[in-house]
Parts: sequence; C-alpha cells; structure tokens
Amino acid sequence: MDFSEDQIRRYARHIILPEMGGVGQAKLLDSRVLVVGAGGLGSPVILYLAAAGVGTIGVVDDDTVDLSNLQRQVLHTTASIGTPKVDSAAQAVAAINPDVKLVPIRARLDKDNIRAIIADYQVVADGSDNFATRFLVNDACWLERKTLVSAAILRFDGQLATYRPGGPCYRCIYREAPPEGAVPTCSSAGVLGAMAGTMGSLQATEVVKELLGMGDTMAGRLLIYDALAVTWRNVRVPRDPGCPLCGDHPTITDLSSHGSTNHACG
Ligand SMILES: [Zn+2]
Repeated sequence: MDFSEDQIRRYARHIILPEMGGVGQAKLLDSRVLVVGAGGLGSPVILYLAAAGVGTIGVVDDDTVDLSNLQRQVLHTTASIGTPKVDSAAQAVAAINPDVKLVPIRARLDKDNIRAIIADYQVVADGSDNFATRFLVNDACWLERKTLVSAAILRFDGQLATYRPGGPCYRCIYREAPPEGAVPTCSSAGVLGAMAGTMGSLQATEVVKELLGMGDTMAGRLLIYDALAVTWRNVRVPRDPGCPLCGDHPTITDLSSHGSTNHACG
C-alpha cells in the first residue's frame, strides 16, 4: 500500500473500518465499476463510488441533462442542462476526487456493443429505467461472467438485487420483458426524488461489498422497499432450473434476440 498523506486523510473513515482497512481501500482504488445510466440511481451510485475512491468508473449514457431530471438526478446541476450526462458526471467526479478516473461512454447500449463495454469492468451497476436495457444488461453480465448490482425505482417503491455469475439471474424473477407500455415508467407514473437516493445509495453499498467481499451478499435475494408504508421485505430468490439464461437447459446463449434499447430516466 502506497498511500499519499492526502489519501490517508481522505480515506481515514474507511481505513479505520476493520472489515476494510488499508488493504480494502487500496483494492477499491484498483477497482473498475461500470454504471449504466447517469440518471436518478446512477447519480448517488457514481457520487458515492467516486467519493469512496473506486479507481475507475465507466459511465454509459447517451442522454443530455434536461430540466425535468434535476428533481432526482443530483449528479447534475441547472448549469449543466443541455450538456451530455457523461460530461456532467465527469465534471462532478473530478471535483469530488482526483483519484478517480471516470470513463465517459456516450452511447446507447445494444446487443452489439455491450459485451465489449462490460468486459473491461469487474462489477456492473444497472440504474437504467426500462426493461429492455435491464434484460440486456442481465444477459450480457451473465455471458461475460460479471457481477451485476441492479436497482429500480417507481413512485414510492424501490427494489434492489445482486446477480452473480452462476445465478440466480434477473430472468429467474422476471422471465422476459413485458410489452412496451405495459408497465408504467417514472416519466408516466412519477417517482419521489429521494427514492433514487435511497436505492442508489444501497446499490453503491452493495457494489463496494462485492468488490471487497465484505459481509453477506445480496445475491439470491430481492430487497423490496415501500416508502409510504415504511416497510422493507427481503425475499429469497433461488436459481430457477427452468430459467432460459442460467437454468439447466439454457435457450439464451448470446444476445441475438435483443433489439436496440435506451436508458434515459432512472
Ligand atoms: Zn436465471
């Protein structure tokens, strides 16, 4: 471990944690995480991972900052309206922690580019807002054998899950994407802004835990938060032997069934 004086001060509250220590902090500085979507969930994920000193953070987003984003996407500011979200994210991260390299990937994930993009990273954090992207990211992470930490928010509800190589996977819970328009989105049904902070912060926590192997993994569980009722449910999700991706007789062995996707709102 070769920390500078500044790094020892910056990360003192991590280094003092017995579960983490200098070894864990050094590991974070060497870690590579890909964040899908620099929106509501991506904002706290990127901010906390950057503050924590995760050395390389890739951010995939093809969108620009819109006024309607600012109610929950705390990474961006009024001054950054109209600029690409990946550039706004890079500016915010540079201001927080010079130890962190943000890799801006201004692209829309699709079946042709996603495997090459995620291959460079250890853990993927999905903060996308639509089923097509979530299924694409799930399938690509499975095929590339990457750990996926996935969160979703809508109205006053939040969900969080981790999918590790070996399963269970997202398709063990939701077999396939519902038809377009069948399920409300945050643009059509709304979302309380702070839900993004709650679920995104949990997502950042689970990413750090997966990187360092700390504590109990979320893999095999689904966390369901109801903010209005103030209830948390922790549901066991076993691997489904009939899952088309991670089951005993998989029918999905590549990404050819996926079309083009977007990941805008989060
Ligand atoms: Zn599965």
